[in-house]
Amino acid sequence: TSETTGRRRVLLKLSGEAFGGGQLGVNPDVVGAIAREIATAAKDVEIAVVVGGGNFFRGAELSQRGMDRGRADYMGMLGTVMNALALQDFLEQAGAATRVQSAISMTQVAEPYIPRRAERHLEKGRVVIFGAGAGLPYFSTDTVSAQRALEIGADEVLVAKNGVDGVYSADPRHDPSAVKLDVLTYQEALVKGLKVVDSTAFSLCMDNGMPMHVFGMEGEGNIARAIRGERIGTLVSN
Ligand code: UDP
Repeated sequence: TSETTGRRRVLLKLSGEAFGGGQLGVNPDVVGAIAREIATAAKDVEIAVVVGGGNFFRGAELSQRGMDRGRADYMGMLGTVMNALALQDFLEQAGAATRVQSAISMTQVAEPYIPRRAERHLEKGRVVIFGAGAGLPYFSTDTVSAQRALEIGADEVLVAKNGVDGVYSADPRHDPSAVKLDVLTYQEALVKGLKVVDSTAFSLCMDNGMPMHVFGMEGEGNIARAIRGERIGTLVSN
């Protein structure tokens, strides 16, 4: 909860894969629909967003195909900035005030990442979009979501997934006996090697007592419901 406004404050993680609608690049219909839900919920909740970049590049994949890992990761981070700008555009069309902050400086398109300024934006009701991940190779946008949530004092990290509506006891695509879990501890998630979110993100949240709600973004209104605090997926906590 914001110390100055008393409003709920969340960090929403959106995967790049969702932005592409399963393809390379940005699908305006998908991003437009996501933006409208965020814009509506932003009237009562302070929302910061971390966007992924998997619809453009994933550093690990490019490095497996021969590229230098660090350089490939920077390409991945630049992809997240394109997604951030796309989301900003559709949020503004939906009537929300926004700011993009980038962890890699590119002042023509985004503010630099300044946490206290991000908090001021949130207090003023602006949606803050964090681009370029952490600005560090070998990190993922999941991990950055946990870090940003901690630094801006969010109540929880909301991880929006596509293709799955929460955390399962096993991989539901391969194991028909897998069941959806309503609650889960970080310890269990790490011991069982559940990979809905990467292990660095899980352990950062575990060590700092930051709860995480993993939910499915498909279905009208799901993103807005999660933002408002409805438990529609899996709550991961200590
Ligand atoms: N990335 C990085 N450091 C960060 C965040 C992202 O190097 O702090 C790179 C990494 O190569 C990653 C890519 O950016 O594969 C896209 O981010 P991610 O895979 O997390 O996106 P998502 O899977 O959520 O679409």
